[in-house]
Amino acid sequence: MLNREMVIANRGVLDQPIAFRAVIGGKFIDAQSRETIARESPAHGGPISLYPRATIEDVNSAVAAARNAADTRIWSGMSGRERHRILLKVAQIIEARRQELGLIEALEGGKPIGNVDGEIQSSIDNWEYGATLARHTYGDTYDELDGPRLGLTLREPIGVIGIITPWNYPLGAVSQKLPFALAAGNCAVIKPSELTSGTTLILGEILLEAGVPEGVVNIVCGYGQDVGQAIVEHLEVDMISFTGSTAVGRKVGAIAGETLRRVSLELGGKSAQVVFADANLEAAARGVATGITLATGQICIAGSRLLVERSVAVEFTNLVFEHMKAVRVGDPFDAYTQVGPVISSAQRERIQKYLKIGSEEGATGRSAALSERLRTSKGYYVAPMLFSNVQPGMRIEQEEIFGPVLVAMPFDTADEALHIANGTSYGLYGGVWSKNIDRAFAFARYMKCGTVEVNGYLNGSPELSVGGIKASGIGHEKGRHSIEEYTQLKTVQLSLDPVFSGH
Ligand code: NDP
Repeated sequence: MLNREMVIANRGVLDQPIAFRAVIGGKFIDAQSRETIARESPAHGGPISLYPRATIEDVNSAVAAARNAADTRIWSGMSGRERHRILLKVAQIIEARRQELGLIEALEGGKPIGNVDGEIQSSIDNWEYGATLARHTYGDTYDELDGPRLGLTLREPIGVIGIITPWNYPLGAVSQKLPFALAAGNCAVIKPSELTSGTTLILGEILLEAGVPEGVVNIVCGYGQDVGQAIVEHLEVDMISFTGSTAVGRKVGAIAGETLRRVSLELGGKSAQVVFADANLEAAARGVATGITLATGQICIAGSRLLVERSVAVEFTNLVFEHMKAVRVGDPFDAYTQVGPVISSAQRERIQKYLKIGSEEGATGRSAALSERLRTSKGYYVAPMLFSNVQPGMRIEQEEIFGPVLVAMPFDTADEALHIANGTSYGLYGGVWSKNIDRAFAFARYMKCGTVEVNGYLNGSPELSVGGIKASGIGHEKGRHSIEEYTQLKTVQLSLDPVFSGH
């Protein structure tokens, strides 16, 4: 057990890494007893976590355990009320362990200890809301068919769901899938990212403690190319629910297509924030700056493109940059820090590569300052950056950078703004800022993306589904529609003998 106060006082430097355990068939697989994957701190480079590295045999065992649990209906056969109670209990145990979970997210992901709790809270909310859906899986009845025949459309669980999640919001990402999959009566095999597996593995303990039967949820660690791919290719996995990059999502979708299995893909984005001159410019500037700097810009729905009406473009872009500069980048364990390092050296290199591409394309970049301490530290720190003189079609305007890099473009008309906003391959999220509700709502209707926010950004609730279109994915998570995502239809027809004349 970690001593939270001590870890914070030591700024996340641990004497020895935390050894996590995977879960297969209700048994814990110890990191010490096998080959491991070591996670080092993105903030200082020291050891943080050890995960047991799964073999292909482990994947097969995990899938077999889930298959057995699905086929024997130990979970789907429970009443909705029983499943509801167990899922609520999961939420309660997460709540009881929230400080520990937040600490792990800060250590592994480099998120500031002062604001990591938001992710834990939204995970709890999803478990609580998912629990209610366990009592709301219902279908349709058709009573007007020929003769006394009665038609029923039932929703039944799909079976075994393979869940693969990225590193940026590990507990958040799994909590957008698993409560809903379980509410619908499914079983699961989960692989988190090998960079941030800790909180998902702790979730494995929590599920068992809450009363989820052994084998219903299995969690294995490993790299995408072997363990992830083995789960996706396994024919006893009935559906794949994947969150990650568009490049990997395409591969996952292709395998699912080849083998004719269900797939849900939550992928990348290049979301636009459209600001009109009549907006509350101060609120909009804060919203735009937060939308690109929160979690160091490593959020799929980051508002990475700013489209601003030309009459206020210079003034507004300067205001946004003032807010970006004011964001306190620093050590995740300093209480004042708002934004920590990026996840890895590879991610920092990717961001730096795009900064170079932006300059080569002719855009003008300005960067917030990083302190000497951060520049010379072993952590992967990146200063927030704003590009102006950006033209639609430039690579920095089209490609997902996944860092605190904002590109700003002026527009003259609403038509032009909509055209630019819709002009990338992605379709995940969008924001529009205006006091003209007719115009704002027209944007909400015609922006080609899964979610649009008006006069706000990065809000969300478990009741509201999220999902992308175009290269941002297929399917939806959260909301009551998630039950449709994780169930399949079964039609039952009852041919009844007439009892009364004509019926
Ligand atoms: P990746 O696509 O690289 O990885 C996502 C997950 O897939 C990881 O667990 C990874 O394992 C695994 N994986 C990698 N290759 C394969 C494979 N061939 N078969 C099966 N699984 C594989 O994404 P990142 O982890 O880098 O996450 C960042 C991306 O996720 C961004 O594009 C972001 O936009 C997107 N994202 C989308 C969200 C949404 O809701 N739309 C939310 C959050 C992020 P490993 O880590 O070992 O490589």
